[in-house]
Amino acid sequence: MKPAPFEYLRATSVSEALEFLQHDDAKIIAGGQSLVPMMNFRLAQPERLVDINAIAELTEISEDGADIVIGSLVRHAEAMRSPLLARRLPVIAEAMRHVAHLAIRNRGTVGGSLVHADPSAEWPLLVALLNGEIIVEGPEERRYLAAEEFFIAPLVTDIGEDEILTAVRFPEPPSGAGMAFDEVARRAGDFAMAASGALVQVEGGVIRDLRVALGGVGDGPVRASALEEELTGKPVDAVSVADIAELACEGLEPMTDLHASAEYRLHLVPVLVGRVLETALARAAGGRA
Ligand SMILES: Cc1cc2nc3c(=O)[nH]c(=O)nc-3n(C[C@H](O)[C@H](O)[C@H](O)COP(=O)(O)OP(=O)(O)OC[C@H]3O[C@@H](n4cnc5c(N)ncnc54)[C@H](O)[C@@H]3O)c2cc1C
Repeated sequence: MKPAPFEYLRATSVSEALEFLQHDDAKIIAGGQSLVPMMNFRLAQPERLVDINAIAELTEISEDGADIVIGSLVRHAEAMRSPLLARRLPVIAEAMRHVAHLAIRNRGTVGGSLVHADPSAEWPLLVALLNGEIIVEGPEERRYLAAEEFFIAPLVTDIGEDEILTAVRFPEPPSGAGMAFDEVARRAGDFAMAASGALVQVEGGVIRDLRVALGGVGDGPVRASALEEELTGKPVDAVSVADIAELACEGLEPMTDLHASAEYRLHLVPVLVGRVLETALARAAGGRA
C-alpha cells in the first residue's frame, strides 16, 4: 500500500521544526523505520510530515562533564560503532547488535525508538537501566524526563504533538561498574520476546549498586526492584545468581501475543537475568565495564 497524501516540510533547526509542528495533524519523521510502514498500512495518516533529518545539532554523541549526551538523530548503527560509547557505556553497543537488521539500524534513530515506545525495544530499556534523562523541547519549555515518567503504555509516551525529543543524557555510571545486556527473540533481528540489562558495582566484596532492567514483559521498560533491593549491600560471595534470579519476576504481568505467551516470557526472565548478572559481575571483577 501507499501512504495517504501528506504535506512534506524539511526543518533545518529545532526552532523551525517546532514552528512546523504548529498544525492540527503534523508528525515528525526521523529514520522512518516505524512511521513509514504505519503510513503505508494507513495506520497513521498525518496531514503534515516534519522531516528533522537536516538538523545537524541532533546528530552528535558528546560528553558534557561526566555525562554522555546522545542526540535524538543518532542512528542505532552509529551508537553501535561509537568509540566514545565503547569506552564509557559499552552496554549500548552490546544492545544495539540486537536491534533489527543492518539496513534498519543504519536509518533508525534513538529518538524515533524512544517515541515509538515498543515495550520490547532496546533503547527504552537502556534509558531505564542507565538512569537516563530524556530531553524534550516544546514551544514553551524544555522538559527532562526519567524512563518511568516518559513511558506510559505500549506505543504511548508523555511527549506532546508539538514537542521534539532532542537528546538523551546518561549520567556517569558508578565507578568500576560492570554492565551486560541480553535478549531472546524468535529470529535474529526480531523484536525481543524478553530482554534484560544489568549494572553492578562491587566495592570491597560488597554489592554497592545494582540495577536490573527488563524489556518485553510490561507496558514499557521495568526495573526489577525486588531483586535490586535484595542484592544491594550483600557480600558478592554470598550471592547465588541462580537462586535469586526468580525475584526479577515479582510484580510482572507480561502480555501474551503472536510471538510468545505470558508464561514463556516469565520463564525467560530469570534465565536472562541470570545471564546478565553473571556477566556484569564478571566484568566488574575484571575491571571492565
Ligand atoms: C523489521 C523491523 C524490525 C525492527 N526490529 C527492532 C528491534 O529489534 N528493536 C528495536 O528497538 N526496534 C526495532 N525496529 C524499529 C526501529 O528501531 C526503528 O528505527 C525505531 O522504532 C523508530 O525509529 P525511527 O528513527 O525510524 O523513527 P520514525 O519511524 O521516523 O518515527 C517513529 C515515531 O517517532 C516519532 N519521532 C521520531 N523522532 C522523533 C523525535 N526526535 N521527536 C519526537 N518524535 C519523534 C515519529 O513521529 C513517529 O511517531 C524494527 C523495525 C523494523 C521495520
